[in-house]
Amino acid sequence: MYECPNPTIRVVDSASIALLCGVFVLFLRSSDSDTVYEFSDVKYFHYDRNVDDPYGVYNWPKTFSRECNGQQQSPVNIETGSLSVDEFASCPTMVYNSPVVQGTLINNGHSAEFLFYPGDLAAYNIPHRYGMYIAHDFHVHYGGLFESTTFDNQISPGSEHTVNGYRYDGELHIVMYNSRYGSIEEAEHHADGLAVLAFFIHKQPDSLDFGNRNMHFSIFLGSNLPYIANINFSISTSLNLDVFRRQPCEFYTYSGSTTTPLCNQAVQWVIFREPLLVSRSAWSAIQLLEFTGDYDNRYGNFRVLQPLNGRVVESNFVPTF
Ligand SMILES: [Zn+2]
Repeated sequence: MYECPNPTIRVVDSASIALLCGVFVLFLRSSDSDTVYEFSDVKYFHYDRNVDDPYGVYNWPKTFSRECNGQQQSPVNIETGSLSVDEFASCPTMVYNSPVVQGTLINNGHSAEFLFYPGDLAAYNIPHRYGMYIAHDFHVHYGGLFESTTFDNQISPGSEHTVNGYRYDGELHIVMYNSRYGSIEEAEHHADGLAVLAFFIHKQPDSLDFGNRNMHFSIFLGSNLPYIANINFSISTSLNLDVFRRQPCEFYTYSGSTTTPLCNQAVQWVIFREPLLVSRSAWSAIQLLEFTGDYDNRYGNFRVLQPLNGRVVESNFVPTF
């Protein structure tokens, strides 16, 4: 079994932080019955599955970007029986000066997003990519609120990728950009511009012992989310990067896109096999977050699965299931 090298201490390039917003698009009338929107801002996309809603997930290709209908879109279902296995593939190596990083956690209207200070976290050994990738942010995807009368009103499973059709409770994405492009805004327009390190999230009863590493993550969610319940609310907070260490380092990888508009086909996905564990009570704090529009509370913030269109998902381990 291939073992990850230990993270090393290294200073990386600095670059400016900027939010992915402010891109304007023009809606064109295609028939008299269509609703017409003009100069709508891409940040108002949402996950409504009503086919008549121009902002909803099924209309992203014609509302925000034709690339959302491209041949290499994400997320996908990972079939473990169809993986291409390379047990000697390099493990992405995270580099940082300090394991505890300070950043800004914001409710961006679609998720809780932690913005790294430039250079606090980077990675190399991204599969099929060269050079250093700089962490811009991490954010979480999750399911909608059950509309039933379940006693604890827990949210439904909402990972973006699935494994053999199984959807985890959530999924965390560390979005990184290729240092050669200097900024995430520039990098997303290049085929080798982005890499996302993804971690499935699995909730479990509070009473179970799930170790220090996962406890960090539960405390992070449970203690910070109540402060960013409203859209655009933010706080300065810290995170221990040990949360993301994986030993052994086992992952799936494939070439795809961002899972929100503009759906840029610029992403090498690295999805770790071992999920983050989170306590049930900490995970329930996700429910506090206000969304852009009313729909996402019902549907969650995961994009519908996209076809592989001949792409092959690789792994660096032999699946046992
Ligand atoms: Zn994401």
